[in-house]
Amino acid sequence: MVLEAARKLQGQIVAWRREVHQNPELGLETPMTEALVAKALSDMGIEVRTGVGGHGVVGLLRGTGRVEQAEDGGQESAPPVKTFAIRADMDALPVTEETGLPFASKIPGRMHACGHDAHVAMLLGAAKVLSDMKDKVRGNVKFIFQPGEEGPGGAHPMILDGALEDPKVDAIIGAHVGPLWDVGPGQIGFRTGPVMAATDRFAVRIQGKGGHGAAPHYSVDPVVIAAQIAVSLQTIVSREVSPISPAVVTVGIIKAGTAPNIIPDYCEMNGTVRYLDKSLASFIPRRIKEICEGIASAMRGTATVEYTHGYPPLVNDPGMTDFVRKVAASIVGPENCVEVQPTMGGEDMAYFLNEVPGAYFALGTRNPDKRADFPNHHPKFDIDEDVLYLGSAVFAQAAIDFLARE
Ligand SMILES: [Zn+2]
Ligand SMILES: [Zn+2]
Repeated sequence: MVLEAARKLQGQIVAWRREVHQNPELGLETPMTEALVAKALSDMGIEVRTGVGGHGVVGLLRGTGRVEQAEDGGQESAPPVKTFAIRADMDALPVTEETGLPFASKIPGRMHACGHDAHVAMLLGAAKVLSDMKDKVRGNVKFIFQPGEEGPGGAHPMILDGALEDPKVDAIIGAHVGPLWDVGPGQIGFRTGPVMAATDRFAVRIQGKGGHGAAPHYSVDPVVIAAQIAVSLQTIVSREVSPISPAVVTVGIIKAGTAPNIIPDYCEMNGTVRYLDKSLASFIPRRIKEICEGIASAMRGTATVEYTHGYPPLVNDPGMTDFVRKVAASIVGPENCVEVQPTMGGEDMAYFLNEVPGAYFALGTRNPDKRADFPNHHPKFDIDEDVLYLGSAVFAQAAIDFLARE
């Protein structure tokens, strides 16, 4: 029934996707998308709160299923009303679109190259399906639309602004499209536990003592110190973190110097750190600091380290992952529900999953026959739109089934 309703909405879901796709907005500045989402939700009779943590939108559908049930079965025994949340991100990327699609971005330098336009459309589709069958919804459903996933992060500000409160959210789900997890079109990928990595970064400033390139003995060379540090930082992962715990320390920038015959005064390094195990959130920064400071000091210089925590690891709750997997199997068939590997990319859905149990899954939209086989963030990235109603159906069915439990 849900699947059928979602299938009938496919044209509308695609229309929403294309409208959002043509009008991409970056970071936390998503007022047009906010307005589009708010209007669509209000037209469905859903309560809407805009401006949540910036330009976030929270829609609230109060199902009537439980009231009817209470009248049949007696008011006293009615369990408390639960609230199920579904989240979509709605920001684009600073990329100039090269798809040549008739509904390509109208704004040069901006593109929905990660498929968040599809996430918005699928969630609006689920909201429409559920608002049309309110009597089957035995509790509340919250539709959370957040900006800033590609940075600087829109989930956390929305949580601080009460997105998960009033009514309190009991569980949350969300999904990502694209070839990110190598899931085929219409297939849904799941994994329990840590699925996406923390995305921290660090900056190191190495102070030496500049001088003539021909007289290193009068100087303290920060380039040589940086080289030692760059190599030694690799031993954090290879020698100190458990080999069965995925982690990455990458030095992406080393900057120093102005001429071949000058020993520079200082050198700057920048890097990114990824890990799936939350316990590494304090260990890796401590070791980066100790290695940088220790090596610099041993080589007569100094190093100062600035470490910035990004999104935490995204961790799927085992019970919720099993639950959504069963729901998805009823929609796309068990043969189309696949197990995925973790990725070391980050995702700020992690903040929501830190607050309430939930599951984040992949909906495959890669289809070479439709030129939809470029990776996320590529200027030619596109999706197989034909499967979007499946995402809406899984969202809506999960809400109904979760609220019907017990
Ligand atoms: Zn992305
Ligand atoms: Zn994304």
